[in-house]
Amino acid sequence: ESKIKHSNTDVLIIGAGPSGLMAATWLARTGVPFRIIDKRSNKIFSGQADGLQSRTLEVFQSFSGSTFDMRGLDSAWKMANHMNEFCFWSPDETGKLVRSSRIPDSIPGISRFQQIVIHQGYIEKWFDETIKTFSDGKSKVERPFLPISLDIDESKVEDKDAYAVKVLVKDLSKDAVADPEQFNSNVANGLYRQFEGDQDKFYTNIADIENDPNVKLDDYEVINCKYVLGADGAHSWVRKQLGIEVEGESTDFVWGVLDSVPITDFPDIRHRCAIHSVDSGSVMIIPRENDLVRLYIQLKEVPRDPSTTSGTSGANSKGRIDRSKITPELILKNAQDILKPFKFEIEDIEWFTGYQIGQRVSPKFDKFNRVFISGDACHTHSPKAGQGMNVSMMDTFNLGFKLALVCKGLAKFDILKTYESERIQVARELIAFDHKLSRLFSGKPMIPNSTVIQEGVDMDEFHRVFQKGGEFASGTTVNYGESSLIDLSATSPVDEDGRSFSLVATNIPVGRRLETTLIESQADGRVIHIVDRTLSDGRFRVLIFSGDVHTHPSNLKILDEFNTFFESNKHFGKKFTPVNAFDNSVIDVITIHGSRRHDVELFDFPEFTRPVDYKNRLDYWRLYTGVDTTYHQGDIDAYEAYGIDKKEGAIIVVRPDGYVAKVTGFNIRGLEDIDKYFNKFLIPQTTNVLTPKDKSSNDRDRFVKPLLA
Ligand code: FAD
Repeated sequence: ESKIKHSNTDVLIIGAGPSGLMAATWLARTGVPFRIIDKRSNKIFSGQADGLQSRTLEVFQSFSGSTFDMRGLDSAWKMANHMNEFCFWSPDETGKLVRSSRIPDSIPGISRFQQIVIHQGYIEKWFDETIKTFSDGKSKVERPFLPISLDIDESKVEDKDAYAVKVLVKDLSKDAVADPEQFNSNVANGLYRQFEGDQDKFYTNIADIENDPNVKLDDYEVINCKYVLGADGAHSWVRKQLGIEVEGESTDFVWGVLDSVPITDFPDIRHRCAIHSVDSGSVMIIPRENDLVRLYIQLKEVPRDPSTTSGTSGANSKGRIDRSKITPELILKNAQDILKPFKFEIEDIEWFTGYQIGQRVSPKFDKFNRVFISGDACHTHSPKAGQGMNVSMMDTFNLGFKLALVCKGLAKFDILKTYESERIQVARELIAFDHKLSRLFSGKPMIPNSTVIQEGVDMDEFHRVFQKGGEFASGTTVNYGESSLIDLSATSPVDEDGRSFSLVATNIPVGRRLETTLIESQADGRVIHIVDRTLSDGRFRVLIFSGDVHTHPSNLKILDEFNTFFESNKHFGKKFTPVNAFDNSVIDVITIHGSRRHDVELFDFPEFTRPVDYKNRLDYWRLYTGVDTTYHQGDIDAYEAYGIDKKEGAIIVVRPDGYVAKVTGFNIRGLEDIDKYFNKFLIPQTTNVLTPKDKSSNDRDRFVKPLLA
């Protein structure tokens, strides 16, 4: 009998940065038992990453939509600074600093959200609030908690119900945790956020702990987990436990970052700017919330601390930077030199850091599909394109719903493999992109129209790379390849942008996130974004585009055939849904016809498009039109937007993370193909009876909705 407390959880998340918090949000949303720990004590901080890209904002919206009254992730769009224009400055023929061009900061039309900036502290706070809302106040980050040892029982990894991973953790709240040092006693200083909290000073063996009379046993706990996620940043302890070595550049770059409200006559201070000086280096300017401005400067020579040299190649081959040598004055002086002849003074500094980072990627993202790593633990790179925090959140946005489906016994364990295959590709592209950008950002600019042969950075090329990079940076153009969750059969060969299309929905690339378009409710005429009807709640969506049933009544006959299909227990309509759950708890079927709303009636359509619940209450939110002249939004045409013929129709399957999984024709064979798709990875629910989570809940939009007795 162990004297140390033992407990069980489905998922343990180690690290409560943006990546860990996104995973926790999914698990809270879908009601999966989880814990999230962080070694930091709860210190409010500013600074660190700040850019939120279009796709990230779409994802934030997808957790709230219009169904939740939340002050969480929704706040981003309202509170952050919106970046509209990107200006490039470089020397002219005479060496004078001039604006060489300007472009829109986000590519127009790529998303309904454009890039915004706000400091990471807010983002973590909003996640905390969101997790609290979704878990009814039951889950929150536990801190300061340090993991000390991690053991995987290999004999259990194939048993899906086993708690195969054991993590010993220590509550540090009674230890003296390093307080972040302050610069000039009042400036929030990012240099010390990465409290190393070194595990080495604790016993890793339970017997040693129990046998030492000086150890307080209450401070320790053994957590038995089905899954563990290491979202513990660039120096990931979890990654080290798995024996995974990151690969990439052996040198580190050091970035000076300074947040302040400057006093300046530089005219573009409220735009994002990339400024190359003749020979004082380059600076990136980021206008921020509350009139703050962030400067990013790549520092050339920063003294290293030789005592931290590890002797191996890689991250520490030259030793960590000597942080005491990085001061706001040093960063400011660099900025002033680059910006000459413009004035640039500072009265108050909000935050600064020396951010030491190399371009590295992990060759593996998991072990046995039981322990995963994500975010900075998998990839690190420069902060220039505002990617670190975004890609880190998107990693766990990908993993979170898969863990939820497996933990709830709805999907096979195998789907977890697609986390690494889908995300490692993105990580590699990210590092390649950053590599290209780094060379162009840090090099000396070539003087335009000069007759002398020069070495250096061609400013036109720099603009082009930035502009093209904008697509990638937005996060909206990620393509996931063929897997158990993405079915590319009957699609065109992959084009140069990595897209493949089906013939029946010629504007919807399969494997990409579903781009939004407007649809109108048949029941009440409200116009909504389709993605606000396909929120992140853990469900798959089958979107039936039935064509114009008014002009082509035979399409209604097809819908009648579908009704028979959906009534059968043998097919995906019922087969994969827990017996006491609402009929659309796992797969939500939505019909979007192509007739004008006034040309058809709700009750012209078969029952599966307007089902009733166990109390005979009708569900009005399954039937929409994609084509109409609306009262307040003008003409809408989802069929044209998606490249779907109004006679032929199409069926689109969307994953819980909003990615298009499969496209088929609008006919019974198409439905049967979709049945095959779900059969590959979902588990029939004939015997699985989920316990009602909350009998008194009247929330009709929960992932698994219990029947109210
Ligand atoms: P992190 O945000 O690093 O979160 C990891 C979390 O895990 C932390 O809360 C940490 O306390 C916790 N943790 C670590 N080890 C353990 C452990 N063993 N046990 C328990 N908990 C642990 N990006 C930019 O774009 N611009 C910037 O200016 C910028 N500046 C940065 C400055 C610093 C000092 C740092 C560390 C990062 C900076 N970044 C910047 C990077 C950006 O913050 C990250 O890309 C982003 O936060 C990645 O999210 P993450 O959740 O993967 O990791």
